[in-house]
Amino acid sequence: MEDELKRLRAAALEALAAVNEADQLESFRVEYLGRKGLLSTVMRRLGQVAKEDRPRLGQLANTIKREVEELFQQKKKQLSSTGVAEAVPEDLSLPGRSLPFGKLHPVTQVMEEILGVFEGMGFAVAEGPDVELEHYNFEALNIPKHHPARDMHDTFYVTDSILLRTHTSPMQARIMEKLEPPLRYIAPGKVYRCDSDITHTPMFHQVEGFMVDYKVSFADLKGVLTSFTRRMFKDDLALRFRPSFFPFTEPSAEVDIACVICGGSGCRVCKHTGWLEILGAGLIDPEVLKKVGYDPEIYSGFAFGLGVERVAMLKYGIDDIRLFYENDLRFLAQF
Ligand SMILES: [Zn+2]
Repeated sequence: MEDELKRLRAAALEALAAVNEADQLESFRVEYLGRKGLLSTVMRRLGQVAKEDRPRLGQLANTIKREVEELFQQKKKQLSSTGVAEAVPEDLSLPGRSLPFGKLHPVTQVMEEILGVFEGMGFAVAEGPDVELEHYNFEALNIPKHHPARDMHDTFYVTDSILLRTHTSPMQARIMEKLEPPLRYIAPGKVYRCDSDITHTPMFHQVEGFMVDYKVSFADLKGVLTSFTRRMFKDDLALRFRPSFFPFTEPSAEVDIACVICGGSGCRVCKHTGWLEILGAGLIDPEVLKKVGYDPEIYSGFAFGLGVERVAMLKYGIDDIRLFYENDLRFLAQF
């Protein structure tokens, strides 16, 4: 019986060492320590051994049972704390796992940069509604019904008199209607046109800017736009103003910058002209000033509008505007 007890102890210790899950531990308890377990079964037979051996064997059996029970409790404690123990790295000075983190969209980054430059020149920022009254989008800007300029806008109409704004220029009229000069504002936001190809998307971003005061001239416009484009691209950037037509400015100009890719010598991006069109601008048409009750004999102003995606494309050499909206992280992560 003594040998049997010793074998049982060895077997119990070995079985316990192999346990590494809670349910294995419970099976172990039933097998060895339970009321019908192996230890109890052996101990019940103590009554059958010779009387003189009984105390010694009884003591041995109790010692083994206590030992196994103690080890069982230790194992139980160890298993219940394992979850925590594994989460703590062995070397606390190791650097942690770094998680990928999000960034601002390139269009948002460029938009913020543009606003920053104009705010630095004293322009205030104003935002207006995406769903706009036809009045502010067209009539107030000297584009009456049936004016051919409306054809250039490919407008999404909501009702006969409500539309998705086709440019951020309605904010000119909205601000001038409420406030008196001097005014220096930029109005950023989304605009919508029914158009889609490699240089057009149905939704894109514009920044409208305008200034109204006594004696604002074309020279002021040139100064502001030259400062702006040089801050956005590079210090000695060349600009040119080409005569153009917009119903709400007179005279009007389209503004080109020297190609930022080839430096003016001609490349695919600038179609070998050395120039890139970047924005439209002009002096605010006296008719637009009259519509909001300003006297064009006293006040004058300039206005300009530029496409944010266009600036981002030129700044980063991107040749397809649709890349901005495909949510491809390989593209977006580069900015
Ligand atoms: Zn070029």
